[in-house]
Amino acid sequence: MHDEYALLVTAFPHPKCALDFTTPLQLLIATVLSAQTTDKRVNTVTPELFATFPDAASLAAANPETVEGIIRPLGFYHAKAKHLLGLAAALRDRFDGEVPHTMDELVTLPGVGRKTANVVLGNAFHTPGFPVDTHVIRVTGRLRWRTDWNSAHPDPVRIEKEICACFPPEEWTDLSHRLILHGRATCHARRPDCAACPLRDTCPSAMP
Ligand code: SF4
Repeated sequence: MHDEYALLVTAFPHPKCALDFTTPLQLLIATVLSAQTTDKRVNTVTPELFATFPDAASLAAANPETVEGIIRPLGFYHAKAKHLLGLAAALRDRFDGEVPHTMDELVTLPGVGRKTANVVLGNAFHTPGFPVDTHVIRVTGRLRWRTDWNSAHPDPVRIEKEICACFPPEEWTDLSHRLILHGRATCHARRPDCAACPLRDTCPSAMP
């Protein structure tokens, strides 16, 4: 596991969050918007969204149709606009408009699960966080870094605990970034490019 991770560190020496943001609120909003679409696409709509609604209070009071118009290219824009307004209202009413700093508080916000909370903790607050997304689930399974690698329905919380136990907390966020980058670049869901993979010599799932 650690030798394989060293190869991922070499392949992705300076990983970073692919979502554009400058504040914790912006990252929280961008992460919520990234469901069912790509980070790249989210980055095309957030400049206008953040300029139009610079804080939680203005977003909470927004006309839903205005928000829908801005985020329309992302798909599911009606549901996503509703989520954003609910999230902004909760931040305004319960946290004085600020994004809370702890997992326990973040997951009380509407539409915020552990994955989103870990993205915000690790990238906006520099608090150890290991977001488990579809790439992390797939790559850790193929590498058999987790005991339930052959489960048809792996539990993201269990994966988070099992993988985090093997790495120091200060590595968790970059570890997640690197697994995601590797999943996007090489260890694709349908046809992994094993011939070009730096982990092919030890990966139990490597295909000829
Ligand atoms: S060898 Fe293939 S299956 Fe294994 S990590 Fe690399 S791309 Fe994925």
